[in-house]
Amino acid sequence: MKASEVMADLRRRFPNEPEYLQAVEEVVTSIEDVYNEYPSFEAENLIERLCIPDRIFSFRVSWVDDKGKVHNNMGYRIQHNNAIGPYKGGIRFHASVNQSILKFLAFEQTFKNSLTTLPMGGGKGGSDFSPRGKSDMEIMRFCQAFIAELWRQIGPDTDVPAGDIGVGGREVGYMFGYYKKMAREFTGTFTGKGLDFGGSLIRPEATGYGNCYFLLNMLATRGIDIKGKKVAVSGSGNVATYTTRKLTELGAKVVSMSDSGGSIIKPEGFSEEQLDYIFELKNYYRGRISEVAEKYPDVQYLPGERPWKHVKCDIAMPSATQNELDGDDAQALLDNGVIAVSEGANMPSTPEAIKKFLAAKILYAPGKAANAGGVAVSGLEMAQNSQKLSWSAEEVDDKLKSIMKNIHEQCEKYGKEEGSDFINYVKGANVAGFMKVARAMMAQG
Ligand code: GLU
Repeated sequence: MKASEVMADLRRRFPNEPEYLQAVEEVVTSIEDVYNEYPSFEAENLIERLCIPDRIFSFRVSWVDDKGKVHNNMGYRIQHNNAIGPYKGGIRFHASVNQSILKFLAFEQTFKNSLTTLPMGGGKGGSDFSPRGKSDMEIMRFCQAFIAELWRQIGPDTDVPAGDIGVGGREVGYMFGYYKKMAREFTGTFTGKGLDFGGSLIRPEATGYGNCYFLLNMLATRGIDIKGKKVAVSGSGNVATYTTRKLTELGAKVVSMSDSGGSIIKPEGFSEEQLDYIFELKNYYRGRISEVAEKYPDVQYLPGERPWKHVKCDIAMPSATQNELDGDDAQALLDNGVIAVSEGANMPSTPEAIKKFLAAKILYAPGKAANAGGVAVSGLEMAQNSQKLSWSAEEVDDKLKSIMKNIHEQCEKYGKEEGSDFINYVKGANVAGFMKVARAMMAQG
């Protein structure tokens, strides 16, 4: 099948999965030329095999709340592709989770993991369970019920889950604990574990730090210094808060953050004290971003708004969730002179937004390249677990820096436009990620 026929076929078969089709279309369109150069790929119908997940597990998760009431949620694990290593990818707990969203995430993960240069296939899982407002014990009971269903399908050389939206160290700890009880083995089946039981230093920081390292590589291609630059960040979870930490260390100014309730902005940049407050509020107290404006009168809260149209910035780092930056937002950023967009979230820009960024020839890095630092350090956690030792923070951070540099080089190699200096990072990341998985699939028959 030709690349264009595959898209039509997938649209016919999965009409109710818009996020999945969106992610697939972006990849299929950008690899089409390269794909058509290899007749053997077409003969083996490789692209369709790569787009449709190997298998999907879906199950009911029944759990008991603190009042003794029973709730039923849906649970899923998508094992997308294991051509280059065990299935690997996070677990998302959020009310919006459905099969389409997890299929898009598992698909993206396959290319992202390929880019890291580490031997990891792609997968993703999750539930429409919303952790918001739940007690610690309710979270624990839910995690145990979820793993009671899933544990037989995962393992250190089979499928290694980690965190994502709504799943952090606490949830990974509860899931790992229950997995260990069911499987009766202590192995590195999860990453993002606590430091006392096999977790890696720098794993919590990795996605945000990695995105900043990728951004530095992009800025270097145009000789731009990050010092003093104004950066609009969205989100305020793990990725966003560690992004702002690294940005501050690098001398940049953070002018916005957000959560599902709205955004906070400060055009001259938040102070270090304010960013520390946000970090603690969000990571330790699970508070709302509106509380920042209640505490600091120089911070403005915009309920129900995303930051992009409301504050001038040189750089944007969308780090909240999928499709959080649309064509109008992209236009507003470009009108205000944005020079770089580096995605901390998975697929935060809509196809219209991406088109505008590429047409304007700014530095635009898609999530599968820019946010790959998280899963890269997960890969390093797997390596440490199988060697039964742990590396220093410096060692892991150095490895993370060189992985992000390597991903940038791969994007440059496959994404540089002929006869110009422009690097199309979308094409570069998609082609580089695809080629490795495609070659492995061909070799394996
Ligand atoms: N959920 C993260 C991602 O989107 C991390 C996955 C992992 O560490 O396995 O890449």
